[in-house]
Amino acid sequence: MPATDLEQIVNLCKRRGFVYPSAEIYGGFRSSYDYGPLGSLMLRNVKDAWVRAMVQERDDVMLIDAAILGPHAVFEASGHLANFSDPLVDCTVCKKRFREDQLDERDCPQKMKGCTFTEARAFNLMFKTHAGPVEGEGTDVFMRPETAQGMFVNFANVLQTSRRKPPFGIAQVGKSFRNEITPGNFIFRTREFEQMEMEYFVPPAESAKWYEYWCQERMDWYIQYGIPADMLRLRAHESDELSHYSAGTSDIEFKFPWGWGELEGIAQRTDFDLKRHAEFSKQKLDYFDQATNERYVPFVVEPAAGANRTMAAFLLAAYDEDVINDEPRTVLRLHPRLAPYQIAVLPLSKKDTLMPLAKEIYSKLAKRYMCEFDETQAIGRRYRRQDEIGTPFCVTVDFDSLEDGAVTIRERDTTNQERVAISDLENVLRVKIGF
Ligand code: ATP
Repeated sequence: MPATDLEQIVNLCKRRGFVYPSAEIYGGFRSSYDYGPLGSLMLRNVKDAWVRAMVQERDDVMLIDAAILGPHAVFEASGHLANFSDPLVDCTVCKKRFREDQLDERDCPQKMKGCTFTEARAFNLMFKTHAGPVEGEGTDVFMRPETAQGMFVNFANVLQTSRRKPPFGIAQVGKSFRNEITPGNFIFRTREFEQMEMEYFVPPAESAKWYEYWCQERMDWYIQYGIPADMLRLRAHESDELSHYSAGTSDIEFKFPWGWGELEGIAQRTDFDLKRHAEFSKQKLDYFDQATNERYVPFVVEPAAGANRTMAAFLLAAYDEDVINDEPRTVLRLHPRLAPYQIAVLPLSKKDTLMPLAKEIYSKLAKRYMCEFDETQAIGRRYRRQDEIGTPFCVTVDFDSLEDGAVTIRERDTTNQERVAISDLENVLRVKIGF
């Protein structure tokens, strides 16, 4: 059964080195987290799985990596300077700050008696800094609050260098920054996070069709990587929820322990962004179709996901507790493409006689897979550790291996063990792992 309490995952992440509170030795920094040896591997796997589906396995989407810092002009054109704000209210009694749209009643969530709130003020979520040694006029720069603007400002560059015609997409994975009023729920809402976004440029008349298409594709992606369908839902935005640019948005939501929460938004951004950037930059940002002799500004359908939230969802969904030989165990049933390690190589004993063979097997497998080599503790405890960090397969090298040239493969989900000739090991694992 998936985790029902966020603390189960928070504790496992800390204990096993997935995620640490940032700057912990100084008491922590509530709004950000650091990804440890296992978490950084898993986060990278989440992003790679996204790039695989969105770029590698298609022929119509290109990947870019744009700058994080952007000038005033970009965010003026995008509308972020004017519109990218949340309604901030202060409780006049407990002095805490809240997002007005997240209060479900006019009652302070801190449950203090007699709480009253100030009028809501628009609080811009962008982080502002300045470039160069002198502060002042014209040196203001912003940390991007979404990766999307990188795709719009590079639309003409990519169109020209890649010789595409709509429909085609530009994708990007990278950090974004928002000065959130209420960060929280572990890595669900932080001030610094990673996004996986794709702008799909289409002929205007095809926008609705592609919107449907991307809603379905993206739902399938989460299911393919192990989230049960009943923990996901696609929720269309009410008209008062829509962003300033959107003609229709649906969120893919995951059933978090505290309720449904957004993993990804799929928006019809129309021609808003390209038109605004064309207007502000005075550059042509359109497409000339030589077949029909028509010039038009493409419409955009945007699937925009968060890597960190998605990683939290994969961890929560994969978490399980069961009993093996009367012993309770915790197991992360992660998809092999998401697990930090696909394989652990475990010599049964630290004795010198086993080490060279175990190391040789590790070196071979590590060329293809992320592997861990672990020679500490009793073998049962090592299996438990691998179960808890989600490693789908352990390869155990024992004293018989020296005689029979075979090793044991142990499967995480079933704990079944199978003896396999070392000469067949790579092929057998390739079939079991699925890649
Ligand atoms: P929310 O309503 O939760 O603030 P949003 O609708 O503002 O999110 P989008 O602008 O659609 O979010 O951004 C796309 C994705 O980026 C979100 O679905 C989410 O996965 C991720 N994301 C946005 N803000 C944060 C954040 N503060 N921390 C972590 N991930 C975030």
